Amino acid sequence: MLDADFFRRWMTATAALVDREADRLTALDSPIGDADHGSNLQRGFTAVTATLEKEAPDTPGSVLTLAGRQLISTVGGASGPLYGTLLRRTGKALGDATEVSPEQLAEALRTGVDAVRTLGGAQPGDKTMIDALVPAVDALGDSFAAARAAAKEGAEATTPMQARKGRASYLGERSIGHQDPGATSAALLVAALEEAAGE
Ligand code: ADP
Ligand code: MG
Ligand code: MG
Repeated sequence: MLDADFFRRWMTATAALVDREADRLTALDSPIGDADHGSNLQRGFTAVTATLEKEAPDTPGSVLTLAGRQLISTVGGASGPLYGTLLRRTGKALGDATEVSPEQLAEALRTGVDAVRTLGGAQPGDKTMIDALVPAVDALGDSFAAARAAAKEGAEATTPMQARKGRASYLGERSIGHQDPGATSAALLVAALEEAAGE
């Protein structure tokens, strides 16, 4: 079973991975965006870890809803509301249970990913974070390790795609040949799950 501490570790591990990979995320956002994805997420997840420490939410659901709210209020740009919605809606789906099963987490994450799809209007294949998140959620029933591998593969698969949503879509065919920064950071978020589980 996964308790509030697990979800706090998930957010802290995400913040650490984002810190480590910030330059890479920004470099990916340079040819097909405005070169701010790494700094956007760094600002957001730094604020998330600070708020979680200060407010000490004590259920899985409240950890994620608080983290999501914080992302929405601190990250300018498309990714803030999208990741914020992902975490908030996943948290809401977990309700006020003090512990949840991995299956419940997988189901709640699917609700969160669906909310991101509704908010941003992106379908799989549009070269966005959705291309890492959907395969990750599909694989989460197997294990965190499987989800991590699926998200990484999904992110890499965005390279030959033409962007149909977000800033990169303004480039049309010139967006082809570059890995999507948001799909890359989504793979970090999923990788952090495995770290939180200590696997
Ligand atoms: P901005 O483009 O506003 O500068 P970021 O650089 O932080 O925001 O985030 C860009 C990432 O957000 C993209 O790489 C893409 O994965 C994701 N993204 C943008 N628009 C959408 C959308 N409509 N649906 C899903 N993801 C999106
Ligand atoms: Mg950007
Ligand atoms: Mg921007």
